[in-house]
Amino acid sequence: MLLGGRVVGTKDATAIACRDGRIVFVGTDSGARRFVTSRTRLFPLAGATIVPGLTDAHGHMLGLGEALVRVDLVGTSSYAEVIERTSTRAASTPQQNWVLGRGWDQNDWSEKAFPTHAALSERTPDHPVFLRRVDGHAGLANAAALLLAGVTHDTKDPDGGRILRDPATGEPTGVFVDNAMDLVERVIPEPTHDEKAALLRRAMQECVENGLTEVHDAGVDLDTIACYRELAARGEMPLRVYAMIAGGGTSFATDPATDSHGANPTLDAFLARGPEVGAADGLLTIRAVKLYADGALGSRGAALLEAYSDEPGNVGLLVTDPAELHAVTVRCLKAGLQVCVHAIGDRGNRVVLDAFEQALAEVPAASRGARLRIEHAQVLAPDDLPRLARLGVVASMQPTHATSDMPWAEARLGHERARGAYAWRSLLQSGAQLAFGSDFPVESVSPLFGLYAAITRQDETGKPAGGWFADQNLTPAEALAGFTSGAAFAAFEEADGGTIALGKRADLTALSADPLTANPRELRTARVIATVVRGRVVFGSPSPPQN
Ligand SMILES: [Zn+2]
Repeated sequence: MLLGGRVVGTKDATAIACRDGRIVFVGTDSGARRFVTSRTRLFPLAGATIVPGLTDAHGHMLGLGEALVRVDLVGTSSYAEVIERTSTRAASTPQQNWVLGRGWDQNDWSEKAFPTHAALSERTPDHPVFLRRVDGHAGLANAAALLLAGVTHDTKDPDGGRILRDPATGEPTGVFVDNAMDLVERVIPEPTHDEKAALLRRAMQECVENGLTEVHDAGVDLDTIACYRELAARGEMPLRVYAMIAGGGTSFATDPATDSHGANPTLDAFLARGPEVGAADGLLTIRAVKLYADGALGSRGAALLEAYSDEPGNVGLLVTDPAELHAVTVRCLKAGLQVCVHAIGDRGNRVVLDAFEQALAEVPAASRGARLRIEHAQVLAPDDLPRLARLGVVASMQPTHATSDMPWAEARLGHERARGAYAWRSLLQSGAQLAFGSDFPVESVSPLFGLYAAITRQDETGKPAGGWFADQNLTPAEALAGFTSGAAFAAFEEADGGTIALGKRADLTALSADPLTANPRELRTARVIATVVRGRVVFGSPSPPQN
């Protein structure tokens, strides 16, 4: 039972009582106390604001777990510091095991050239090491890693990648750029089943600490699903997961890779057996399939209708054959599965809308309420924008992508196209359903950062003034809906969750600031006071009793 708080959007409700995982009372503290039994746990909120449980409609749980256990090199001020942090980790890692890190940026060092591996290799002789640059587009390997990867003087640069070399000797320096990173990454072993479970557990803990009660996990395979079931059975699954099966061709490291032209046992299994809703005591639902249409904007891989404004001739690339998008969508519709397609560029989005439109026409029985989704929906041609509402397609968007990308997105797209980018206000006005997430670990897990970005379209310092393409700013209520009722709709869960109402799931988040009335700047520093899933406090410690 939550007491002494403020229920968002109400005039005087301060308390919520829960029973058997459901909300049984919303009102005053004295009213709630009538529901107290000997088993009731009281949680005094000291004025915190209770909102419907926050949901991230697009994250990568395993990727987050991996990111959390990597050596954190963000903010290192010299190569020496990178070596120090890495060798410290190596000292506590069994010999021959990989040490992985991320976050270095030589622009922050006094010596701004790319590092070379010698100094690192000297301090880490017994462990292969691979350290990704802050943007993920370059990585530094040590000697042991070069040996395992079989990279030598004679190794050629792969397409779309570069092996940096000593100009005098031609020997690899240890730095691999873009596709060349695959040369090293393909020899890094996949986590075992038990390691995966541990990574998921760690990631889920991070999620509830950030106030999330549910995550739509954008790309899982059978092994990950098995991990979730085991964790739930052991009582180690603190929040709900709405899983999207990794359904096809992807070159994205955060998604379990599946060969789009080969067998996909996870997809095949669920095409045969259909969706599984509310498994693992209601914590796990598997009814969606994740596909990729194109790449990303930052690396100019998003498929555009016209060339990139800052790279004439390059229109990006489609990573899945449009015919396959259509074929898989038809099969999924027939099996009762939802299809969620990653599409960033305006061409990528058009191809998906075309595939969806055709598939919906072919399977009319399943098409009503299919709630097909476009993940990201970042750049839409003006003609395509109204098609989402018309086809009942959910726009699953990530507000923090806009504020992370805004320093360079207009250079990629030019002013006109940028007006149709991250256009959540236009989509909302067109009648489309919005669901919000973060795409963690690409962006921060915190939904508070997402709310701030959706409302302001500003960076953490409040720039640009008024917001980037400020006509797309949302109201606080619209932004909150994206992370609550909108995300619930995208998962067919609106009858059960997404808002605070009697009989609904007791999934709640208590925050130190009221997202509807606080200055948006306050949201970035607001704290999560409690995270409640199925009526149980999964994060937060009650404030001491007042007397
Ligand atoms: Zn993603």
